[in-house]
Amino acid sequence: MKYFAVFGNPINHSISPRLHNLALQGYGLAGFYGRVHLEDGLELINTFNKLELSGANVTVPFKEIVLNQCDEIDETAKSIGSLNTLVKRNGKIFGYNTDAPGFMLAISEFKDIESALILGAGGTARAICYILQKNGIDVEILNRSSSRAQSFKDCSFFTHQDYKPKGYTLVVNTTSAGLADDHLPANRDILKQVLDSSKFAFDVIYNKNTPFLNLAKSCSLTCKDGKDMLLFQAILSFNIFYENKFENEKIRSFMQEALFF
Ligand code: NDP
Repeated sequence: MKYFAVFGNPINHSISPRLHNLALQGYGLAGFYGRVHLEDGLELINTFNKLELSGANVTVPFKEIVLNQCDEIDETAKSIGSLNTLVKRNGKIFGYNTDAPGFMLAISEFKDIESALILGAGGTARAICYILQKNGIDVEILNRSSSRAQSFKDCSFFTHQDYKPKGYTLVVNTTSAGLADDHLPANRDILKQVLDSSKFAFDVIYNKNTPFLNLAKSCSLTCKDGKDMLLFQAILSFNIFYENKFENEKIRSFMQEALFF
């Protein structure tokens, strides 16, 4: 029997247990995936070991603090400075970031992307910026404050005050504006000017018609919410737990039932 869990605070809302348990059941594997509500992020790997887990996911607010607690970290997680997947192999804990490649898979139907504007500058923005740049896409960041500019040294970083609107192939909202309120991630006129001359829009928030996606739709962009990003990060994590022996499409067929809510 193998045990897995997702660590976070809060954690009750997480659908990772449902996604992973569907795949475990689908393959008939002897495994169970649960939730761990953690108070102290510095205790994450100790708790992982005490629970005798084989693998885990890590969510807000522990994706950064756990980095230094791993024995080894993959290049993507190291470059981004955060991870969401842990696996134990031969007594060692390995850390990975599947948010970034998960995002790339989620936008696979958006073709010929040359440029992107990312709204927001938090951990999700760092992951998406990294993977877009790695795929040769020119990235600019627009955030409400300059406090996180130092995390984006390799691309143009603008605040709402110093930004001049222009068009991009892709515009991504990574802010939490619109999650629990009806706010846009930036000034409406500025966003409208950007969206009017852009092609694709993606919001990392899922299962909600956010003000950002509604505005993008009204400007005739092809739009997508964050559901597939959530699904693909889970698929990639599951395959890391099982040493890449499964096909992503098959894992998807088991997991996607969890997203019909
Ligand atoms: P962070 O807290 O690290 O960053 C949040 C960013 O949003 C900051 O840049 C912040 O600006 C900005 N922001 C917050 N509120 C507003 C607002 N009202 N208007 C404008 N900007 C705002 O968050 P994360 O990057 O960890 O997560 C962001 C979102 O991504 C969450 O909604 C999360 O649920 C979602 N997510 C979805 C995933 C998926 O699989 N679909 C995976 C991971 C995350 P400032 O710097 O000025 O504070």
